[in-house]
Amino acid sequence: MSLPAHFIYEGRPGRVVFGAGSRRHVERELIALGAKRALVLCTPEQQAVADEVAGLLGDRAAGVFPGAVMHVPIEVAREASARALALGADCCVAVGGGSTVGLGKAIALDAGLPIVAIPTTYAGSEMTPIYGITESGLKKTGRDARVLPRAVLYDPELTSTLPPAIRLTSGVNAIAHAAEGLYAHDGNPITALMAEEGMRAIAGALDLFGTGDGGAQAEAHALALYGAWLCGTVLGSVAMGLHHKLCHTLGGSFDLPHADTHTVMLPHTLAYNATHAGDAMARTARALGQPDAPLAVYELISRHAGPLSLKQLGMPEAGLDRVAELAVSNPYPNPRPLERDALRAMLQRAWEGQPPSR
Ligand code: NAD
Repeated sequence: MSLPAHFIYEGRPGRVVFGAGSRRHVERELIALGAKRALVLCTPEQQAVADEVAGLLGDRAAGVFPGAVMHVPIEVAREASARALALGADCCVAVGGGSTVGLGKAIALDAGLPIVAIPTTYAGSEMTPIYGITESGLKKTGRDARVLPRAVLYDPELTSTLPPAIRLTSGVNAIAHAAEGLYAHDGNPITALMAEEGMRAIAGALDLFGTGDGGAQAEAHALALYGAWLCGTVLGSVAMGLHHKLCHTLGGSFDLPHADTHTVMLPHTLAYNATHAGDAMARTARALGQPDAPLAVYELISRHAGPLSLKQLGMPEAGLDRVAELAVSNPYPNPRPLERDALRAMLQRAWEGQPPSR
C-alpha cells in the first residue's frame, strides 16, 4: 500500500441515524437541531410516507408539501419556500429521493431553513453540499454549505417500496459517484475507502435482492442504503469527471431520466477512462468482484435487466454529435483528455447498447 505524498480530506458535518425504523426518531432529531416546526417535503407519489412522518412529528409538523418534482423547477422552489415561511416552519424534513432532497436544498438556500433528510433512493444528494435549480429550462448547479442536510435518517424500510427497476438504476447511479471519485483529481485515501466499500455494498445488495427469505431482503435493503450513504459522501467530497458531466448534458439537453442515464453511460465512461486510471479501475473491479471494471458494471446492469442503450431511453441518434461537441467545449479535470472523435465513438456504442470498449 502506498499513500500519496500530500492530500486534503475535508469531512462534512452532519449526523447520521441508520437502521430499520429510524424515521421514528425524526422528532428527536428535530429537537436536537433546536427546531420547532417542520414542513415535510415529498413528491406527489410519496405523500403517504410523508404523512406518516408528519404524524410522527405531531405538533412539530407545520404541514406537508407534496410538490417535489425532478430537477427542482424554480417556480416549485419558490412556492415551497413561501409555504414554509407562511406556516412558520423553521426547518424542512425531506422524505424522498434526490428530487425531494433537492427541493429542501432550494428552500435552505432561499430561506435559510435547515434540512433533516429521510432518503428513499440511493441518489446520495443528502450527503452533498451540491444543489441544482432549473430556471427557463436550464439547470444551474452550485455548492453551498447551507444546503447540506444537518441530520440524515437512513431507514431501509422506506427503500423496500422501490420498484426493482428504480432500485437498479438508483444503485448504479450511486456506484457512478464512487467509481468517478476513485479517479478524481482531488481524491484522497479516505474517500477511496468509502468508494470501494460503497460499491461493494450496493453491488452485493443488488445481487441479494430477490434471493432468500425476508431476513435476506431486509439485509439487502440495509446494505444498499449503507452503500448509498458512502457513495453519496464521495460525491459530496471530491470532483466528478467525464461521466457526471456527460450525464448532466444528456439529461439537461434531451430530458433523459437521471438514474437511467447514469446506468446506460457508466460502463462506457469507465471504458473511456480505463487506460488512464489503472488504480481506480482495479479498485472498482475488486469491489464488483470481476477482473474488468467497465465490463463488470455492464454485466451487473444486464444481469438485473437494466437499461443498456441511450436509444431505449428515447435519445435521438442525431443528438450524439451535439453531446460530443458539448463534452469538449467546457474542459474539466478528467483522467483521459477529452477527445471529440473518441467521445463520439463511445456515445455511439452507448446509444446502440453495445458492451463497453476501450
Ligand atoms: P427522484 O427523487 O426523482 O425519485 C424518482 C421517483 O421514484 C419519484 O417518482 C419518487 O416519488 C419515487 N420514489 C422515490 N423513492 C421511492 C421509494 N422508496 N418507493 C417508491 N417510489 C419511490 O429520483 P432520484 O434518482 O433519487 O433523484 C434524481 C434527482 O436528484 C435529479 O434531479 C438529480 O440531479 C438529483 N441529484 C442531486 C444530487 C446532489 O448532490 N445535488 C445527487 C444525486 C441526485
